[in-house]
Amino acid sequence: MARPATLGEYLAIRPRMIDTHGRPAILENCASCGRQHFTVEPCAHEAPCPRCGSTASRCRRPSGHDADAWHAERAAAFEALCAEREAAGLPQVARWPDTTPALFDWPST
Ligand SMILES: [Zn+2]
Ligand SMILES: [Zn+2]
Repeated sequence: MARPATLGEYLAIRPRMIDTHGRPAILENCASCGRQHFTVEPCAHEAPCPRCGSTASRCRRPSGHDADAWHAERAAAFEALCAEREAAGLPQVARWPDTTPALFDWPST
């Protein structure tokens, strides 16, 4: 499965994605963060933002409004948490078979 080039392509292949143990990755509407994410993924509140301190599913602008995307520091913290769990033997969403380190193409702010 090739890395999707667009968000649309990513959403289209999401139901066929697998975890690092080779099992189908299950999407759920998570009650604790309000996001739809894979069951093996850390929840938003488990990756607080180093920049704005948000533990909600959205980052916060200095004005207090929700930001459109996570701050780059938080995306990095989330990726690090996934890598940590994978190293501990917990299944994580399988990465694309290429050398790009990021799991998602995080929109930058
Ligand atoms: Zn969640
Ligand atoms: Zn933030």
